[in-house]
Amino acid sequence: MHEVERAVRRQGADVVEVLIPEAQLRQRVEEIGREIARDYQGKPLVLVGVLKGALVFLADLMRAIDLPLTLDFVGLSSYVGTRTTGRIELTADLTRPIEGKHVILVEDIVDTGLTMSWLLERFRERGPASVAVCALLVKPSRARVEVPVRYRGFEIADEFVVGYGLDRDGRLRNLPWVGVVKE
Ligand code: 5GP
Repeated sequence: MHEVERAVRRQGADVVEVLIPEAQLRQRVEEIGREIARDYQGKPLVLVGVLKGALVFLADLMRAIDLPLTLDFVGLSSYVGTRTTGRIELTADLTRPIEGKHVILVEDIVDTGLTMSWLLERFRERGPASVAVCALLVKPSRARVEVPVRYRGFEIADEFVVGYGLDRDGRLRNLPWVGVVKE
């Protein structure tokens, strides 16, 4: 058992169960990387990671894309507790203009879709050649707005997931797999 997982168990009765093991994550991320490489050949590509949850996914994904690309980040107001706050704010902005560039927004999870649709609108105003969304996880049953997620890793049920970048109250991001917290 991982030390991170042991620590969770010591904190209380919560148990984190593996939902998507490392090997499955690796395989899917490589598939998405190959797909992106096919789609963006010859185009100026910028991967924009949404902090902090997309960090681990992005780090693996960028190495699976065999194309020249650049990297940037945006920070959004954080997600409090286990349900969305509904209030979205940009806490960190891009370091370079995206005008004329092909942008892929890389997100850990699309839940209600509110965050991503808000972000897409902000990005489209900046004149990129294109904007696409890549999300490791999607919860289709929670969708409140339609978000065009062109690249999606896994569709999951309405459960609170952690690990592989995703947190609970700031922790558990460093679990190497995606798990579900059982209260
Ligand atoms: P949305 O705006 O689509 O409802 O929420 C998007 C954000 O909520 C994600 O970027 C993520 O930070 C957070 N979120 C949604 N569902 C989960 C979940 O199951 N686990 C964790 N750790 N964060 C989640």
